[in-house]
Amino acid sequence: MSRRIPGAPAVRHLAGARIRGVAVLGSTGSIGTTALRVLERQRASFRVDALTAYGNALLLEDQAGRFSPAYVGLVQNGGTYPAEWQVGPECLVTAATLPSVDIVVNAVVGAAGLDATLAALRAGKRVALANKETLVTAGELVTAAATSGGGEIVPVDSEHSAILQCLGRRPASDIRRLILTASGGPFRGWSRDQLERATVADALRHPTWSMGRKITVDSATLANKALEVIEAHYLFGVPYDRIEVVVHPQSVVHSFVEFIDGNVLAQVGMPTMELPVLYALTHPERLPDDGVPPFDPVTASPLTFERVRVDDFPALALGMAAGRAGGAAPAIFNAANEQAVALFLEGLMTFAGIARAIESALGSLAGLPAGDRQALKAADTAARAHVRQRAGGAVGASAIQGGAGC
Ligand code: NAD
Ligand code: MG
Repeated sequence: MSRRIPGAPAVRHLAGARIRGVAVLGSTGSIGTTALRVLERQRASFRVDALTAYGNALLLEDQAGRFSPAYVGLVQNGGTYPAEWQVGPECLVTAATLPSVDIVVNAVVGAAGLDATLAALRAGKRVALANKETLVTAGELVTAAATSGGGEIVPVDSEHSAILQCLGRRPASDIRRLILTASGGPFRGWSRDQLERATVADALRHPTWSMGRKITVDSATLANKALEVIEAHYLFGVPYDRIEVVVHPQSVVHSFVEFIDGNVLAQVGMPTMELPVLYALTHPERLPDDGVPPFDPVTASPLTFERVRVDDFPALALGMAAGRAGGAAPAIFNAANEQAVALFLEGLMTFAGIARAIESALGSLAGLPAGDRQALKAADTAARAHVRQRAGGAVGASAIQGGAGC
């Protein structure tokens, strides 16, 4: 179906009509495959120069066949793969800093994406950032890397893409408040008792978005919204007391910006990540794209909003407090959450145990230093070890008590 407006040119180019080189890190994941769908439609403006994945060599090989990138990297050594691929974790930084690459789509999950973000920014690239964990872990370092290297971050996260689009070129001093929308996840209407017993299958049943497993669990605990509040703080330079969260189950309004004069702008669109991915590639320009069905306000309605049940989803308040505390706290929050979610997905921790594990890690490790990459790595490692040890003890104890972990 074509939705081209009569008289509009069939092909438009970005400024300078130069084709941009793109590296997609995490190309086999949910955002990675979404990005490749968009890039496939936009071959007139973008060329895929590099692809990396963790371990799915089969899908990576298929993608390499379709896009013929000059560089292919696989993190995990094992199995068979073409001789010309680079194998090992260093492939992320190599792909992110290739001279031909203008834009790095960072679609890796977790703090594992941090070094590639830093390297790309220092090399003056645009980072189309889905990997919010890297900005949470090292917001100050990432901001400094962009300043020193001349690179820029353009968010892929739908809420932050919405804020960026509402802001236009207006300065942060024009902002009174940012209001991030949250779908509420699969447990929006669940009681505290039900939440204690929520299973992995329950948590993976997200009502509006189809995403990777880690972010889907983060959406169920609302840890994802805490990560996003911290992400917004660093991206837009807005203090934490002016960033709020509202539940919006339909995921159509992607966020609000309230300006100092009281006017409020919101960005809306159907819940597909193709839209923010495309905008992160073209910002501040726009390219025609008819891959996403047209927006229909009647189909989208009704649009409703609710207060967050902060007491029943403690991961949100824990993450926001970690953001406010600064230092190593956001890195500890992120790493403890990553480890706890991994244990939950393995059946070694309860759903409610995730927030308790985060709280325990923040309580025990709050004083750790955070001045540089090494310090943050140490804080990250300590937080993961803390959560594993605590769960190990509880899992051991549960064998006696018949419980299911912490
Ligand atoms: P996913 O699990 O579907 O994909 C992750 C990708 O990263 C895969 O290609 C995998 O091979 C790669 N990867 C995993 N571990 C790695 C490691 N240690 N080193 C290198 N590569 C590794 O995850 P996703 O849902 O696509 O999410 C990716 C990122 O985007 C996350 O930070 C998530 O929070 C963010 N995000 C996702 C969505 C979404 O709709 N999926 C929306 C907003 C933001
Ligand atoms: Mg989001």
